[in-house]
Amino acid sequence: MALHTFLPPYLLQTLADSAEGDVAACGRATLVADGLMRERRTGPPRPPRRTALATGRFTVHTAGNTEQLPGTPARADGADPVGDVAVDEAYAATEQVWALFEEVYGRSSVDGRGTPIVVTVHYGQGYVNAFWDGQQLVFGDGDGQVFDRFTKPPDVLAHEFTHGVTQYTANLVYQGQSGALNESVSDVFAALTTQRVAGQTADQADWLIGKGLFLPGVQATALRSMSAPGTAYDDPRLGRDPQVGSMADYVETTDDNGGVHINSGIPNRAFHLAATTMGGQAWEDAGRTWYAALTGDQVTPDVDFAGFAAATVAAAGDLFGADSSQVAAVREGWAGVGVVPGVATAPAGASSVPVAAGRVVVRRSGGFVGAVRTGEVALDADPVGPEVRSLLDQVDLATVSGTSTPAPDRFVYTVEIDGQPFDVPEQAMTPALSRVVNLVLGDDAGPLS
Ligand SMILES: [Zn+2]
Repeated sequence: MALHTFLPPYLLQTLADSAEGDVAACGRATLVADGLMRERRTGPPRPPRRTALATGRFTVHTAGNTEQLPGTPARADGADPVGDVAVDEAYAATEQVWALFEEVYGRSSVDGRGTPIVVTVHYGQGYVNAFWDGQQLVFGDGDGQVFDRFTKPPDVLAHEFTHGVTQYTANLVYQGQSGALNESVSDVFAALTTQRVAGQTADQADWLIGKGLFLPGVQATALRSMSAPGTAYDDPRLGRDPQVGSMADYVETTDDNGGVHINSGIPNRAFHLAATTMGGQAWEDAGRTWYAALTGDQVTPDVDFAGFAAATVAAAGDLFGADSSQVAAVREGWAGVGVVPGVATAPAGASSVPVAAGRVVVRRSGGFVGAVRTGEVALDADPVGPEVRSLLDQVDLATVSGTSTPAPDRFVYTVEIDGQPFDVPEQAMTPALSRVVNLVLGDDAGPLS
């Protein structure tokens, strides 16, 4: 059997390994579905997916627990509730985030031109993720053990929708600091969507992301906390929330596209500090400032935290005046997390754990949840070693890992052979690589069709 080690007790780590049969089956099913996603490549912005029903602002589809996208239209814009909870939840959440961008920031749809949005629910079986694939929004039903439906907390959908907005505006590269900013911007506008629906001021809001995603019995208040990154959960099955909220704690890692879901806590907390310092409703002055920075000329796709911070200071100056209290609040927010606008921090060296000769390590990182699963196989000693070796002989990892750019909330597979790591985005997986992943992570789900 492959040896299973789970790096640092992060999230989701034990699903496929759980002693409970149902949980293990769901983990395997998610893994298989991830492999099947390989043909949906992302890259430069493509027009959002259209369907026959796409006459209103958006249409919710159901994949019927298959991996077919976009699936079958289930509820068009303006139609009555259909009684399918996930469909109706997705409908309501799409209306909420659409309204935030259109009514507050004057932006219609992700591209600012009102392009209809396709949302698909009931994706896969036991699929524990949600993502924007460059063209549409996709939601799994969760595993029924730890994770509830990914449509249940409406801010998950708002987060994914905002990935679409970012794609059409700053187009932040999904790697390192710009990737963490991409994640953070999605959390910011997700929180603002929630707060606006609830009519809360910055002081009244809980600043939690993904509240309600976990089923009862899980020691978690939410998936992330913007006000106190690293405190959202601490559960035997999930480990402890690994987010950081200060530059002093910045995590250098090759997992998760450079820790985009961990380091996003830093700009998340900067926004929280700026918004609470400004007071009032956060989607107003603070939200307008971040929106102006995201859509302005100053933010480049590969911007770092300091560059983005400088853009928010400039945006607040443009909107409210250079000597305004809003500019001071923005500066205070970034100072609170150790980021000096316009002054880049020297990056530390990335950490990489060497692997003994003849060993293959596979890590799955990334995903909306930001989980890491790891498995290891000794090519000569493990029963699956020969098959893994022969499969890897068929794959040019260096080429495959260079064929696709990282995409928001997609999984990333790192295949490490004798200490040499190759990152392969979910959307670039080949059938042979999917089989390797299943073998090394210990999921005997059989070859993928
Ligand atoms: Zn995301």
